[in-house]
This record gives sequence, structure tokens and C-alpha cells, in this order.
Amino acid sequence: MITADGIAFSYGKVPVLTAANVTATAGEVVGLIGPNGSGKTTLLRTLYASLSPSAGEVSLDGTPLASLNQKALATRLSVVVQEGSGEMPMTVAETVMLGRSPHLGTFQRHSENDYQIAAEALTKVGTRHLADRVFSGLSGGEKQRVLIARALAQQADHILLDEPTNHLDIRYQHEVLQLVRALGVTTIVVLHDLNLAARYCDTVLLLDGGRITASGTPDEVLRPEILEPVYKIGVQRVVTDDNSVQLLFKPLALSRHIHRTVST
Ligand code: ADP
Repeated sequence: MITADGIAFSYGKVPVLTAANVTATAGEVVGLIGPNGSGKTTLLRTLYASLSPSAGEVSLDGTPLASLNQKALATRLSVVVQEGSGEMPMTVAETVMLGRSPHLGTFQRHSENDYQIAAEALTKVGTRHLADRVFSGLSGGEKQRVLIARALAQQADHILLDEPTNHLDIRYQHEVLQLVRALGVTTIVVLHDLNLAARYCDTVLLLDGGRITASGTPDEVLRPEILEPVYKIGVQRVVTDDNSVQLLFKPLALSRHIHRTVST
């Protein structure tokens, strides 16, 4: 379980997060949504201790992050972010093996089991054939899948992802999120695409100007009256055959023409 209580953060004097509370219970998939600049990435970074909040505390199963050393944290929490990962002068296989490092003792070598776990992780995300390629030479989508493989190889029971579907084609967007769901680990994921959030998250938190302004199930949060004032776009909501909420968007000037077929 990940708990963040009353998180505040400022870049210099500019407050970016105010009193943000986040809870992801064991096995839950929580989506962070909100417009550009609303604070999603900043909030995520406080959740993996890349940024220290100016107020509030983040805990993993009741243990404050601040009291875990980096290695202990890495066995509990894996992080999938593209930022800073692009220049690694390593092969894909070496990159994924990094996920096994937190499980090694000092000067201990990787075992056969470690290689097997890494190979299985690459297979799961459909990148086994890229194992000998240099990571920095991959496409954005390939990189994203390899970073997810590294997180899988890490076998942590909490995973944080910042827009993991960026650069992926539609099939892989769904496959990656299906995979994340199937892991059964506690997950917090920043998602731009509200329809992916609707389909794959148990809970969504809507950020607006550094505050969480709505939280609940996708059904509760992904509603025109909640989304339109935040995103400033017309929203039409439909429920698909397989009972997922899905949204259609129209620029606000045209939104009055939308024929709403809201299902409640
Ligand atoms: P989101 O992920 O929702 O797009 P961010 O967390 O990236 O939002 O950014 C929230 C706000 O913080 C934005 O106004 C952004 O310009 C600002 N910001 C983000 N990173 C920095 C930084 N390193 N220095 C100063 N301001 C930043």
C-alpha cells in the first residue's frame, strides 16, 4: 500500500502541489489524470522520493519513504519513467538486468535465475528480440517497453509509471496496461489518455492546479460536469458493450452541439 498524506511541493517559490492525499491499496491500480502542468509528474516524483515534499509524508505499507535506504526502496518500488533513461550506453539485456541489482548482495554476481527473470520480462513486453540492441538506439515505444521489462524484472510489489503509453501504438497501449493490471501489484500510473484510465484503473485522481479536485472510480470521476471545467473541452460519455466508460471530446465552442447520451 502506498500512502501520501498532505503532500505539498514548490519549485523555488512557486507552489505546484497543495495538500495532495493519495492512497493505493494492495493490488489497486490508481490513475493520476489532469491537464498539462497540473502537477501529475511532480506528485509521482514525490512518491518515489525523487523529490522531497515541503509538507506531508509518503509511506509504503506504513513505513515512511524517508526511512528506507535506496536499496530497500528499490526492492519495494519500481519506477517507469523515460526521463534520464535515454542515454544509457547499454544493451537492452543489460538495461533489464539493472532491475535485478537491488536483489544482489555487495559484489554478488547475477545468477542463472536473474538472467531467466530478465529474459521472461523482455518476452512479456514483446521485446525479447531486442536483447542485444543498444538501448539508446531504440524507438520511443521500444524504450518504453524495455523500461517496463526492467520494472518487471525488479519484482517489486509497488510500481509507479509516468505515461507508460507515450509513444506506443494503440495495440501496445492496451497490451502494456493489461500487463500492468495483470501484475497484481500496487500501481500508480500517470495517464494522459482518459479512456485508458477508464478502462484500466480502479481509482482515478484528478489533479487541477496542484490540487486533487476529484477522486473515485472511473465511473464517478470521468463525467462531463467534472472534466469539462478542468480540461476546458466538451465531453460526451458513453458506456461500451463491455461496460467501460469511454469519453468523446469536442472543442468547447462546439460543445453545446453535442447530443449527450449520458449513461448513469
Ligand atoms: P504535469 O505532469 O501534470 O504536466 P508537472 O508536475 O510536470 O505537471 O508540472 C507542474 C508545474 O510545475 C508546471 O507548472 C510546471 O511548469 C512546473 N514545473 C515542473 N518541473 C519544474 C522544474 N523543474 N522547475 C520549475 N517548474 C517546474
